[in-house]
Amino acid sequence: MKANFPQIPISLKENVLENVLQKTPFGFSLVNEHYVFEFANDEWLNIVQKTRQEVLGKKMFDIFPETEIQLLSIFDHVKKNKEPFYSPEHSIKLKRAGVLQDVFFNFVYQPIYSECGELQCFAIVAIEVTGLVGIRNKIKDEEERLRLATESSHTATWDLNLKNSEIIHSSYLSQIFGYENDDEISHLKLRTHLVEYDRINIVDKAFQRALKTGKYQYEARIIDKKGNLKWVFTNGKIFPDEKGQPARMLGVMQDITERKNNEILLQESHHQLNTALDATKLGKFDMDYETQQKYNFSPRFLSILGYDADTETIDSKVFESHIHPKYLKIRAAALKQAKETGDLFYQTKIILREGQVKWIEIYGRLLESYKGSKPYISGTMRDITDLKEFESSIKESEKKYRFLADAIPQIVWIGESDGRLTYFNQATMDYSGKNYNTFLEEDGWLSIVHPDERAENQRLWMKSVTTKTPFTYEHRFLGKNGEYRWFLSRATPQLDEMGNVKKWVGTSTDIDEMKRLDQHKNDFIKIANHELKTPVTTIKGYVQLLKKMRGDSEDKFLVNSLNTIENQINKLNQLMGELLDISRIESGQLPLHKGDFSLVKLVTETIEDIKAADQSHQINFELSHTSDVEVFADKDRITQVLNNLLTNAIKYSPNKKEVHVKLFIDGKCAVVSVEDFGIGMNEEELSKIFERFYRVSGKDEVTFPGFGIGLFIVKDILDRHHGKIWVESEKNKGSKFYFSLPLFKN
Ligand code: ADP
Repeated sequence: MKANFPQIPISLKENVLENVLQKTPFGFSLVNEHYVFEFANDEWLNIVQKTRQEVLGKKMFDIFPETEIQLLSIFDHVKKNKEPFYSPEHSIKLKRAGVLQDVFFNFVYQPIYSECGELQCFAIVAIEVTGLVGIRNKIKDEEERLRLATESSHTATWDLNLKNSEIIHSSYLSQIFGYENDDEISHLKLRTHLVEYDRINIVDKAFQRALKTGKYQYEARIIDKKGNLKWVFTNGKIFPDEKGQPARMLGVMQDITERKNNEILLQESHHQLNTALDATKLGKFDMDYETQQKYNFSPRFLSILGYDADTETIDSKVFESHIHPKYLKIRAAALKQAKETGDLFYQTKIILREGQVKWIEIYGRLLESYKGSKPYISGTMRDITDLKEFESSIKESEKKYRFLADAIPQIVWIGESDGRLTYFNQATMDYSGKNYNTFLEEDGWLSIVHPDERAENQRLWMKSVTTKTPFTYEHRFLGKNGEYRWFLSRATPQLDEMGNVKKWVGTSTDIDEMKRLDQHKNDFIKIANHELKTPVTTIKGYVQLLKKMRGDSEDKFLVNSLNTIENQINKLNQLMGELLDISRIESGQLPLHKGDFSLVKLVTETIEDIKAADQSHQINFELSHTSDVEVFADKDRITQVLNNLLTNAIKYSPNKKEVHVKLFIDGKCAVVSVEDFGIGMNEEELSKIFERFYRVSGKDEVTFPGFGIGLFIVKDILDRHHGKIWVESEKNKGSKFYFSLPLFKN
């Protein structure tokens, strides 16, 4: 067999050399021109994971068929060019221990020629670099991963050469400083973006520190190329050269503007909160949600408990030890609820070290875990001792007032701001015979009001409640004997400083007797009026007849007497009419007969009538309106109004002889004014003249006779016409009365 082997080159026959080749750390083999292995050293066999027997004398591609295509072309190339072929980091697929693997070799294919220049064989030198390539690829992968990581976490990387200030950086660094990715930026340029204060006080100092410690770290402000103020965070490390001198600095930079702004906001709101808490005198604490153990007491919290935060050490259970034993249950219930709802609230008494007792109020709210911290309840403590004392003194005085209210025979009740009645005194129960709870039901009190007055009663009450104006109403209440009696109910709102209704305090007074007397009086007036009417009309008729017959008589005494009788009869007539009106107004029976008529005509005629009866005054009528003025009203009643104002004007200006009447239009109303220059009135008198039976006191009854009911009737008539009456007056200068009526709309 050996004879078939091609001859081994002479040079290799030498043992020494063979030995060296055998032991070299790189693979070495020889194949002849037929690609049959003639020599393979240990390392080569190791690389290909074969034994020498499996290889020697065998054709290369029989053993490694997978390499045939690849290697044949290489061998052809070597043969053709007669020079070695280097194939660095050449990847070939190799089956090792039955597994096909990607392996990398630095290959040298060296042709070996005989002395006569004939190709004898190929030397294959193979140095496996699979590991090296792997490491390099790994580094590449790592680098890529790092790049991706830094880019996606918005972290810029930089590498600064400390000797020549050259900087290599990722594109994100350019972005932080407001540059485009391809803008050239030097280290010096970057430094100019630092806010000067921060450069001197933060960055330069951090650099000095880095020179000592090797670690470079700071947070500082920059103004980027576009003028935006930003916060950046840098974290770097110094790498020294062989001599131990700082050579490079490598690091990362992040834009932390948002975080910083939030931090600043948080600091500000903390500050505001603390200031607010200081102002409200609230103590503050934090409490572990799970263990419900308190910690982080504010100085105020401790001072409420009687401790000095500066000088005393306080443990987390200090608060519990001061709870009044009677309130432990309330507190436990509140804590249990806090675990369920996240809200903590309770009031308790506490006992201080010296035995002093205080009332406090605890309020807290669950805060969800933030940045990994455990959920906790943040809360406040308020000293409510004064409040509680005040409350109990109020309760005491309320008790007293309730007692008083119950002791009086008049009905007293209290309403809430929304109109609900929530308290009735004992007299209510005594009168109605009903049970207290009946009154507390919604609108329960209405059950004793007479059905005829219920709707109006409720309407007026709600009107007062919404307008916050006093309530007055006369209505009948059902007594326990099954009879109704008249009551006058009044209520006034109790307002707080802001003008909101706190409570309504009401009373209902039994006016049944008064009502009955009033009814008698009204009945009497009606009868008297009726009975007097016939004699008065008869007298008036005879006087008029006598005047007609003897009015031009020479007998002055007779003429004057007849005039006087007629005047007095007229006054008597007017008085009787007014008295009847009053009783009708009171019983709500003053009828109105409305129609449309000319107000101009009415004023003119009324003035004429007055002039005919009394020439003592000059009455001017000024009409500021050219066209007629029509109103829809009760003509007789409006005549009565004007008559009243004119007779008053004459009556209360005995020394001045003029009365001015004007008629004008104001918006949708016709206005009539009657002005005199007589005795006038002061402010206080003015406010009362429209009340029933009011007369300015100290009035000379002879000069100014009257009942004080004219203006009361006038006001009622105008009210019922949706009109108005008002007056301007000055003592001893005169008065000007106005009344207005809505214009008649076609
Ligand atoms: P009286 O019958 O007393 O005139 P009125 O109701 O008409 O009753 O008027 C009420 C009061 O108003 C009068 O008593 C008087 O004091 C005052 N008063 C009315 N008109 C005038 C006026 N023109 N000048 C001054 N006082 C007047």
